[in-house]
Amino acid sequence: MTSGLAERRRTAREAALRGAVAEGLIGPSSPVIGLMDVDGVLDAVASLHTAFAGPATVQHTFAAKACGLVPVLRLLARAGMGCEVASPGELQQALAAGFGYDQLVFDSPAKTVEELELALGQGVAINLDNFQELARVDRILAGRPARGPVGLRVNPQVGAGAIGAMSTATATSKFGIPLRDPGAVEAVIDAFVGRPWLNRLHAHVGSQGCPLPLIAQGIRAAYELAERINETLGRRQVTGLDIGGGLPVDFTTDENRPGYADYVAELRTVVPELFDGRYTLVTEFGRSLLAKSGTIASLVEYTKSAGGRRIAVTHAGAQVATRTVFMPDAWPLRAGVFDADGSPKQGPAETVDIAGPCCFAGDLTAVERELPAIDPGDLVALYDTGAYYFSSHFAYNSLPRPAVYGYRADGAGHVRFAPIRSAQSLREVVEESGAAHADALSALTGDIASEGAGAPARTPA
Ligand SMILES: *Cc1c(COP(=O)(O)O)cnc(C)c1O
Repeated sequence: MTSGLAERRRTAREAALRGAVAEGLIGPSSPVIGLMDVDGVLDAVASLHTAFAGPATVQHTFAAKACGLVPVLRLLARAGMGCEVASPGELQQALAAGFGYDQLVFDSPAKTVEELELALGQGVAINLDNFQELARVDRILAGRPARGPVGLRVNPQVGAGAIGAMSTATATSKFGIPLRDPGAVEAVIDAFVGRPWLNRLHAHVGSQGCPLPLIAQGIRAAYELAERINETLGRRQVTGLDIGGGLPVDFTTDENRPGYADYVAELRTVVPELFDGRYTLVTEFGRSLLAKSGTIASLVEYTKSAGGRRIAVTHAGAQVATRTVFMPDAWPLRAGVFDADGSPKQGPAETVDIAGPCCFAGDLTAVERELPAIDPGDLVALYDTGAYYFSSHFAYNSLPRPAVYGYRADGAGHVRFAPIRSAQSLREVVEESGAAHADALSALTGDIASEGAGAPARTPA
């Protein structure tokens, strides 16, 4: 049974693929594009807000690393989201999108002194990763109170999910204070004693592959620690719990499974006190907000056979689907085949591998799939690519970042597009490849002494 939401998503996506061909957004000169379903994004935000509605104040932030495209961030800001940023670039993207400093949460594990000064000076909420960083903040504040909330990230060490690289609460994870290490809890409590401005705990247990009970257990540990700190201090100093993101996405169907309501139900079972209003809650979802709303569409350039294996050569490979190509078991994607006019392809199926344009043999986005027989000029669509795909381009073979368009479709199949990101031009590719320094190495091969030993090579004007 498909839900109404999933059905709307599918019909809108089909309208978008037909429209993208009709309007020439995809074609020989732009053989790969990204598409973003605007209503799908707004539906996801609405269901997030509904699921958490209750007595507790909740600040929902979007994890910018899942998609730092400014128009997407602005759409999310208008829909009532805040933004979680973890690098100077993401901070600037969020500011360009119109988020105020008080709508941001700054979470990098490697914050520099300058970044900390900026965040503390502007009242951006920050989550500190370790005791060295805490000591840095002490020096920056020099006895003044912090302007915004300051939290400490803890690692509840509840274990790994299905994907090691996505599991942030293992015994040896690089993030946060490992709570089960000897003496760690006492050290955390001590840290709160002398710092009245330290008022949040942060736990992000993991992303894709982490089951809900594991995430809920980690949040339970953070909640219990907050209670213990407040009891020890005899005052309610910890006022906020940042519970991170990490709701996994079902990449095998069009459904949102599990949904935010399932997640909140799990939390209500494992940590019911979380919702009683004593703590401000912060969330940082990324993948679950956008994944289902994105599609990568590519023209099929050629089809061929090799040793009995059918291969369709497309323009979408490791440069746009990096994780899928390098870790196909952890990040499988559904693929659909469409005629040259963008209609779903009918006809007999064949077993086929979908290849990308990169010059290495493993550049495959789908392997041994049963799909309608593919011809050159058809389109292949990679579904559920709205999170982490458009924002995580890999510059292999100097392939340019493709254009991304937002779309809205009505029930009658009318569709409208808006540009989200222009395609990177080949001129930009060359400029980003050091073109301004083209002569620099030739200059360096001259007489070293004539420039003075150790002098930096001058860039010719
Ligand atoms: C990546 C990340 C998120 C978002 O995770 P999703 O799985 O995309 O929801 C949230 N918080 C932190 C600290 C992260 O590193």
